Amino acid sequence: MREKKRHLWLKKYRMQKKAEKSEKINKVLVFCPWEWYNLINEKTFTKVWGVPMAQSRKISTAELRRQNRNNIYRYFYDAQTPKTKQDIANDLSLSLPTVTQNLRELMDAGLIEYAGLIDSNGGRRARSMQMCADVQFAVGIELSPKHIRLAAVNLRADVIAYEKIACPFSNDVSYRQRMARALEEFLDRFSLDRGRLLGVGITLPGIIDEENGMIEVVPVFGLRKMRLSLLTELLPYPVFVENDANAGGFAEWWNHASFETMAYLFIGKGVGGALLIDGKPYVGVQRRSAEFGHMCIASNGKVCSCGRHDCLEAYCSTARLSDDLDISVEDFFRGLHEGNEQYFAVWKNYLDALSVGINNIRMMMDCPVVVGGTITPYLEEYLPDLVARLSMRSSFDDDGSYLHLGRCGDRANCVGVALHFIADFMKSI
Ligand SMILES: [Zn+2]
Repeated sequence: MREKKRHLWLKKYRMQKKAEKSEKINKVLVFCPWEWYNLINEKTFTKVWGVPMAQSRKISTAELRRQNRNNIYRYFYDAQTPKTKQDIANDLSLSLPTVTQNLRELMDAGLIEYAGLIDSNGGRRARSMQMCADVQFAVGIELSPKHIRLAAVNLRADVIAYEKIACPFSNDVSYRQRMARALEEFLDRFSLDRGRLLGVGITLPGIIDEENGMIEVVPVFGLRKMRLSLLTELLPYPVFVENDANAGGFAEWWNHASFETMAYLFIGKGVGGALLIDGKPYVGVQRRSAEFGHMCIASNGKVCSCGRHDCLEAYCSTARLSDDLDISVEDFFRGLHEGNEQYFAVWKNYLDALSVGINNIRMMMDCPVVVGGTITPYLEEYLPDLVARLSMRSSFDDDGSYLHLGRCGDRANCVGVALHFIADFMKSI
């Protein structure tokens, strides 16, 4: 019975997504009377529900009920420990019958479950409940020149399955079929229930025009003007396609709960980034914002992959630490750690250039800067050095503490594009 209701819920969600897509409806909720709802901060609320807390207008009883259900679910989402009915009634200032009714609905949908009995003050022990994180999940697929990465994330944004397969990109149907097959094999290998799959996100290092259904350009694939449908039509699930840096930025933003606005600097072979303003990517007029890799940071004449000179990428691509020396990035940092003097000289120049780039971002945006990408795991050891350089470069009294390392590693892009569906689903509850 419960399973059936859950399926009905999911079906409703998918139909709603389909309707929104076909009619291009931008659903905006503009009501939140719960200014007393002080358990969560404005940012967390807006992040999950997509509406500011303070806006208000008259709403129907049905909408009010839905909002109550949303708030109760969000309460469980934020809670670190199981909660009782009384906890919810007290903390959200709701009546017990309202709480009971909503809990029943959330349980029928399989979104919360009993977690055992806990002691209450003097009276009999109370039944506690918690959210079910694995009741739905989403998959993110990252396409890169040599690999396909797949990650499945649950409602709590935990990575429940991950795989990286060698598969060089080629602009033909056999590659797209290979991608579709990789997804099905991934679902089978990790025994992921397709009935619980909210959708599949695809991310790639290119400029995507979602409105016109086109991939404009993917320089590293040598690709120009491709219909998005060519990529999505082989997947029998709701599909969303996004630029990789924006996806990675979103994953890091989600994992840095205290940041409202942040700049994300991605460093791998390519250097890119994303700007998230109040959690929404600022993509720019021509969808080229946050191309931090192509900021001009010097005047030495070093050639960049874009054909221009002295871009940040020319100095801070990980190729400077690997390809240039004919070693791997891992070898470089091992040697550096062991005191190799040649590597030390390379690293000093690298950090110099990187600190110029990061300082420029900070000067423009005045917000936290998160560095992600393949460099991240190695950067931790040298963070104090980098922070000291940032402090010296700052024209103000910045001490460099605005710099943070990414928490999602090289999975950030596929996690971020999967989170699109998680965020959407949570708004729909
Ligand atoms: Zn460039």
